[in-house]
Amino acid sequence: MSDLARCRDILGDLVAFPSVSSQSNLGAISYIAERLEAAGARVEVLEDQSGQKANLFATLGPDRSGGLVLSGHTDVVPVEDQPWSSDPFEMVERDGRLYGRGTCDMKGFIATCLAKLDVLTQAARTRPIHFAFTHDEEVGCLGARSLVEVLRGREVRPAMALIGEPTNMQVIEGHKGCCEYTVTFTGAEGHGSVPDKGVNAVEYAARYINRLLELRHALIARCPEGSRFDPPYTTLNIGALKGGHAHNVIAGKAVLEWEMRPVVWEDHDFVRREIASYVADVLLPEMLQVAQQAEISTEVIGEVAGLVPMEENAARDLAFRLTGANRADLVPFATEAGLFQQIGMATVICGPGAIDQAHKPDEYVSLDQLGQSMAMLERLGDSYGGR
Ligand SMILES: [Zn+2]
Repeated sequence: MSDLARCRDILGDLVAFPSVSSQSNLGAISYIAERLEAAGARVEVLEDQSGQKANLFATLGPDRSGGLVLSGHTDVVPVEDQPWSSDPFEMVERDGRLYGRGTCDMKGFIATCLAKLDVLTQAARTRPIHFAFTHDEEVGCLGARSLVEVLRGREVRPAMALIGEPTNMQVIEGHKGCCEYTVTFTGAEGHGSVPDKGVNAVEYAARYINRLLELRHALIARCPEGSRFDPPYTTLNIGALKGGHAHNVIAGKAVLEWEMRPVVWEDHDFVRREIASYVADVLLPEMLQVAQQAEISTEVIGEVAGLVPMEENAARDLAFRLTGANRADLVPFATEAGLFQQIGMATVICGPGAIDQAHKPDEYVSLDQLGQSMAMLERLGDSYGGR
């Protein structure tokens, strides 16, 4: 069986695990663990508190510090309300493309790793190669967060990470962070004819949003000089606002979902500080004057640091040797890469498939892209082992 045929079979198996972030990923994890163990890797399955989710960390080669982590997430986004031409969890091949949820984002990369375990085992004879396959990336990089905390506490640690998110096999050295919040406004209901007898949660949410929109302008003014990002500044988005009952009822509750994508972590600190003081000094005192039960509570869904482009980056340089590329770009979407960088690892992103395909109905990855990903891993045999 050719490597590509093996990769396709593995990807079909992985797609068949419906590891949507709201569901368990244990099926996919134990499948991957079995394959790695069969290749002689030391495999750890690290369950989260619920026992329904797990990260996998595995090592081929010597038990010592250094070496490269090949990393990806095992969860996928939901398929509800999307017009798929076929069952999203049953992979189908058409015209050199493999269709199915997660083929592109990012089980395709994981499949190429598993299809190349023979080469990777050889490459890891003198220097370890690690695998980090995580849960809950799509809902705030929860798995990677706990995994890097485990790695941070270890004496034996990898030095580099390659995240195989879909980049069309381009070498990516930077992206913005992604911070997501859900803010719940609790007011006091009443009849719409006497607005000052109640606390209108939707109105307070609107004022909160207005403050965020002001901060959006401040962030443009704070744009770091020479920023290569597009757009070059930190952005804010108001994603959803839900609240209230009807025309003539004072809204007792509102829930706001918003995000920011910081180019530098200081922007994150700035926005959080500004909005917190607006809540504490302005909104909340007004609400409490009318109703003691009034509340504004913020749930942090995820705060993921960006991948900051660095002058020196051994992982990027390795990716250059593996792909033949000689330039590294930035992307507008967030990944787990920044988390690895935050614990001092050189980190790069390079993987098969186009991000335009991710999260869409009829998501696909081309066989050509999978072939290129396997060629990259193949070259680890020459570019890596002796060093
Ligand atoms: Zn992804």
